[in-house]
Amino acid sequence: MYCEVKPKAKYKADLHCHTTASDGILTPAEIVRLADERGLRALAITDHDTIEGWVEAEKFASQVGLRLIKGLEINTDWKGKEIHILGYGPGKEKGSLERFLEELRRKRVDRIEEILAKLSRLNIHLSLTEVKQYAKGQSIGRPHVVQAMMAKGYVSTYQEGFEKYLKIGAPAYVPRAKLTPTEAISIIREAGGVAVLAHPGNNVSQEEIQKWIEDGLQGIEISHPDHTPNQKKKYERLAFRNGLLATGGSDYHGPRVKPGVELGDWGVDLELVDQLEQLIISSRL
Ligand SMILES: [Zn+2]
Ligand SMILES: [Zn+2]
Repeated sequence: MYCEVKPKAKYKADLHCHTTASDGILTPAEIVRLADERGLRALAITDHDTIEGWVEAEKFASQVGLRLIKGLEINTDWKGKEIHILGYGPGKEKGSLERFLEELRRKRVDRIEEILAKLSRLNIHLSLTEVKQYAKGQSIGRPHVVQAMMAKGYVSTYQEGFEKYLKIGAPAYVPRAKLTPTEAISIIREAGGVAVLAHPGNNVSQEEIQKWIEDGLQGIEISHPDHTPNQKKKYERLAFRNGLLATGGSDYHGPRVKPGVELGDWGVDLELVDQLEQLIISSRL
């Protein structure tokens, strides 16, 4: 029987990936299986604003003997830029994290309702229930509004819907509820997790990072597909100088989502995973 052998990943641990619980293509079980096939020994699941993939991932990870780190990625806004904060291992005050995620979900639904009210003034009539059908239990967002518009024949392409009505400056645009990086850091820390700045790239200055370190930031993502060798070096130095964890991961969203990006080809070695786990334990004491 022909059996596809997956090429081995470059790293033993990948600390950044997404599943169907947010905008990934593979289910938590499938991503754990892929990690195992690619020879990874540790994996962190970091879905956007949700921890719903954890239970399934944990079950399958223990079956294949993979070290699973429970994580999430929180989108924040800072001076017009989108800054992502990764949280690893939050769980001490589980209630506080869940309350926060619930609040985020509520804000997302409020935003969609505002968009629908604006659309109805433009003679586009959609109900929240209709839009929810397209979210299929995932976080509701503008893409689902466009899908509902297409299904009812208001627009013929996705791009038309987005450009004409929903992008920034368009007549039915409603900004997202704002959360600052500092707020995300404190939510993660209060829940007993470790807070890490995701893929800073060109997006932030050293002064901004220094400020977030004072606010409780404990690590910077260094190894990431979007980073140039120079950015890697710059953030490595910054992490070293400040005694921060230098984390890394592929930000994998599924096969063929980003050509050339495979699970485990960006990441960290197992020593870093030990350090991260130690920090998670001490955060909970
Ligand atoms: Zn991100
Ligand atoms: Zn991500």
